[in-house]
Amino acid sequence: MSTLELRNLSKAFGGVRALAGVSFSLSGGELLALIGPNGAGKSTCFNLIGGQLRPDAGEIFFDGKPIHGLAPRRLFHLGIGRTFQVAAAFGSLSVRENIEVALRSRQGRSFSLFQAGNPDRTKELLERVGLLEQAQRPCALLAYGDLKRVELALALAGRPRLLLMDEPTAGMASEERGELMRLVGSLARGEGIAVLFTEHDMDVVFGHADRVLVLSEGALIAQGTPAAVRADARVRRVYLGDELADA
Ligand code: ADP
Ligand code: MG
Repeated sequence: MSTLELRNLSKAFGGVRALAGVSFSLSGGELLALIGPNGAGKSTCFNLIGGQLRPDAGEIFFDGKPIHGLAPRRLFHLGIGRTFQVAAAFGSLSVRENIEVALRSRQGRSFSLFQAGNPDRTKELLERVGLLEQAQRPCALLAYGDLKRVELALALAGRPRLLLMDEPTAGMASEERGELMRLVGSLARGEGIAVLFTEHDMDVVFGHADRVLVLSEGALIAQGTPAAVRADARVRRVYLGDELADA
């Protein structure tokens, strides 16, 4: 069974059809990139899955159960995690403290730094994202690429089975981008997490996604392996003048 399945999902804003009958599925351990020009409907699709928006029509299934219309908090507890374009970490807290806060929030406990934490789980998360040595540093002093790793650890604290990443490498230097995506890929494959991400950097998309979906004006115009999508004539037309055209 797919971890995530969208069936005929539609959403309009006034007269604008942001998403028009989109269907696809995603399995555990798979990295799926959602691409398309500005205004194609990527964020709308993300926000429908993440519970920030309700669909006008269509259905969303997580592990075979309908989830469309559920609130983000509820989706989080079911195992749907998300990272944001803007860093979500508290700058004045250390890397370790940020992770401890996220772990407590997962347990539904109130925010307090003075309660006993879960040191084993905190250490495990720090190790998984390669931040053990930076554990005591305030997040405000981290390099941007390391801050992105903190964000990933915060999302993983909820033990997600589906991870939604909105432009995970935005603002990063290009060598850092590949590094972060390799980490995401190894975590996803190692733990069977399904990852759906949007991305502007075509090197990231074609270098790291297992499968690519292309949206244009709210509809899926192509989906398949990076190589197949890159060679698709319709996709090339949509991206004409863009990096894909001369790839
Ligand atoms: P993308 O993320 O691919 O750039 P969006 O999903 O943000 O695209 O937008 C798809 C279309 O829906 C665009 O035409 C956009 O202007 C419109 N849209 C998105 N959100 C809203 C909103 N809250 N209100 C009105 N129109 C919106
Ligand atoms: Mg967007």
